[in-house]
Amino acid sequence: MSDIIRLLPDTVANQIAAGEVIQRPASAVKELLENAVDAGADQVRLVLLDAGKTLIQVVDNGKGMSASDARLCFERHATSKLRQIDDLFQLNTMGFRGEALASIASVAQVELRTRLPQEETGAKVLIEGGVCTGEEEAAVPAGTSIAVKHLFYNVPARRNFLKSNPVETRHVQEEFVRVALANPSVHFTMHHNEAQVYDLRAGNYRQRITAIFGNVYNERLVPVEEETSIVRVDGYVGKPDFARKNRGEQYFFVNNRFVKDSYLHHAVNAAFESLIPRDAYPSYWLRLSVDPSLIDVNIHPTKTEIKFQHEKDVYAILRAAVKRALGKYSVAPSLDFEREPTFDLPLDKLSQPPVTPTIRVNPDYNPFKASHGSPSGPARVSFPNPAARPNREQTAAWLDLHQDQPVQPELGPTLSGDADDEMLRLLRLVEDLDDFRFVQAGPRLAIANHKQGILLVDIPGARERILYERFIHAFGRHKGHSQQQLFPPQLQLSPSDFMLVQELSEELKQIGFDITEFSQNTIVLHGVPTGIEAGSESQVLQQLLEQYRQNRDKLRLPTHENLARSMARSLIMRENPQKVSRELRQLCIDLLHCDHPFHGLQGKVILKTLGPDKLQQLLPDPNI
Ligand code: ADP
Ligand code: MG
Repeated sequence: MSDIIRLLPDTVANQIAAGEVIQRPASAVKELLENAVDAGADQVRLVLLDAGKTLIQVVDNGKGMSASDARLCFERHATSKLRQIDDLFQLNTMGFRGEALASIASVAQVELRTRLPQEETGAKVLIEGGVCTGEEEAAVPAGTSIAVKHLFYNVPARRNFLKSNPVETRHVQEEFVRVALANPSVHFTMHHNEAQVYDLRAGNYRQRITAIFGNVYNERLVPVEEETSIVRVDGYVGKPDFARKNRGEQYFFVNNRFVKDSYLHHAVNAAFESLIPRDAYPSYWLRLSVDPSLIDVNIHPTKTEIKFQHEKDVYAILRAAVKRALGKYSVAPSLDFEREPTFDLPLDKLSQPPVTPTIRVNPDYNPFKASHGSPSGPARVSFPNPAARPNREQTAAWLDLHQDQPVQPELGPTLSGDADDEMLRLLRLVEDLDDFRFVQAGPRLAIANHKQGILLVDIPGARERILYERFIHAFGRHKGHSQQQLFPPQLQLSPSDFMLVQELSEELKQIGFDITEFSQNTIVLHGVPTGIEAGSESQVLQQLLEQYRQNRDKLRLPTHENLARSMARSLIMRENPQKVSRELRQLCIDLLHCDHPFHGLQGKVILKTLGPDKLQQLLPDPNI
């Protein structure tokens, strides 16, 4: 039998390696930006077309390469940063495997221009699918420019695997932000489809954070500083008050490189314990400096994991440092119902679109009778029906009807047991709930009493449900109800919020926002959904974006579902929970006209009725 083992050609080996190192445009961006920083650049420009699928270009003013290095850098294991294995443990630079450029070049069309500052001319190298197609002397600026075109053009399976442009752009943006945070003394810019997304001038760490996340962060940051023989910690944590509103901005940098580390994360969380609600996330931007020989950064191909030699000490030091910082600034927690929702339903339920309930009605049902059979035959009713206005006895009947029915703790159409349907039908017939007297008990409970019993409504839960259904029904209409602004405010957004507004422009219009772009990162709010309190339009929009982002990242809700929920949440966060009787009545009427009035968005019961028997049980008959 003939020999069958063959050595893979380099181009194929590189393509295989690329599978590990370069998964998407963002991975190429990370490698190119890190190389630029490694080359000592203090100005780095990232240019993208179509989320990096068509073009990723990184231009730096770093130390450049000689003509022969320019050719060699695309070879596998070509690196200037590592000569022997010991070097791996002493490195402070970002890249050290000599794999990135070879991998990128094997799956794209790459054009490299580079010049050493002391040379008059530089070099231009063209590579396609790992094969050099051109090499010449060229008059180019000092530093390096690498343009990566049509990533994965020769690996259709990978190209097809890429997500939509907004999703890929988000990944790129995240990598850009990580490198930019790790190097505040470098001036970074990012352009996408010819628009400038970021312009981050050299500055200190605090300035870099606020330039990326927005000026409001200036007052949210608490400095952390700790110096020990094992590790130096510095940076910022977000004040606990803002944890409920944050987007989970969590960044660790070890020796200037972004790392993801659940152990370190745990240490920070422990320091925040009891200061923030359990379902909120602290923000942090923490930098650790450690002797490079005491860490192993090479345990993961994309290099975001790390292993410390003195793991436990680092944990304890980090936790103490954050705790001390928080104590020093004596930032008190604030807890109320405004905090982020705990989505305690299974995700598949949450992502189900609301279904119009099919209401089953028993045609033989007679509310005047004390006893009633179970409904038969599905039929639809439309309501409210003023002609069918019931009398007092009818109103009383639903209370009897419902009192022994436990409310099923589920969301969605399955909750509508027959008794619920029947009760709902009757309640809805009692068009304006004239016979009820409404009072509020505590911050969240509305009670309506009637001589036959009481109705309990959870106010914020009901408001959230009502608003949510209003917005979810708004999708599909061309344009939502909008209140036009007399003096449309201009709003400066962070670059990522600005991109999100662009991404959601159609949906925002459908729920009633009328937004135009004024300039890069600035929008004008011409109209907002009806019901937003005057003067709070901008805050509502910003809260909406924050909430949207959180729901998207943590719960992966589909766009419409997410926007409707986020909008409902940002509106109730601003509402006065104290209501007068007239408002409570309206709230109940609105709730009763919802598709799913019995349950809040988190699945909790928000509407309940108690008839005389149930109430009597609370005060058992003393036998007199
Ligand atoms: P690594 O960064 O692990 O060494 P890369 O494949 O990313 O491997 O880069 C290979 C080599 O190419 C680097 O070691 C460096 O010498 C050179 N190089 C890459 N990018 C640049 C740049 N922007 N400026 C100067 N030299 C660069
Ligand atoms: Mg590199």
